[in-house]
Amino acid sequence: MRNSYDYIIVGADSAGCVLANRLTESGEHTVLLLESGGRDANRWIHIPIGFGRVMFDREVNWMFETEGFTVYHAVGTCKMGSDAAAVVDQKLRVHGMQSMRVIDASVIPVVTSGNTNAPVIMIAEKAADSILRGD
Ligand SMILES: Cc1cc2nc3c(=O)[nH]c(=O)nc-3n(C[C@H](O)[C@H](O)[C@H](O)COP(=O)(O)OP(=O)(O)OC[C@H]3O[C@@H](n4cnc5c(N)ncnc54)[C@H](O)[C@@H]3O)c2cc1C
Repeated sequence: MRNSYDYIIVGADSAGCVLANRLTESGEHTVLLLESGGRDANRWIHIPIGFGRVMFDREVNWMFETEGFTVYHAVGTCKMGSDAAAVVDQKLRVHGMQSMRVIDASVIPVVTSGNTNAPVIMIAEKAADSILRGD
């Protein structure tokens, strides 16, 4: 562990991995990537047909549930905008905080008609560009 890092990313799955990869690819920046989940030792995670085996395994699928129906594509808990209910601005910076952004599926405004993983990766790619530009 170092004493300081240029960026701290919480969560090392879809958005977090893309961000960490992009922010460190030049070798100029350091990233601390924090992940609360366990090791991905479960062999069923790594093969597409394993999906059915892990769907109801609470070690793998934390079974996050809401009153709304998301078909496993939970989004929309961090509103983007400038009104009182908004959490982040258009650059995903948290209102009232310095140097903190929310970069994940939570900034997608409504459940998409397709799957969410690719949109999340796109959000992380664009956010990494924005951070590296110094926006
Ligand atoms: C069962 C299921 C099946 C899915 N199937 C598909 C599919 O086939 N295709 C598709 O496109 N999308 C699918 N999705 C949706 C897709 O997985 C998500 O949209 C995408 O992973 C969201 O990315 P994210 O980076 O926002 O969050 P996540 O990928 O969930 O990453 C969040 C990470 O943060 C970690 N974390 C949480 N809290 C903390 C904390 N306090 N400290 C440190 N780390 C923390 C978590 O362990 C996790 O690794 C599926 C989702 C589920 C639940």
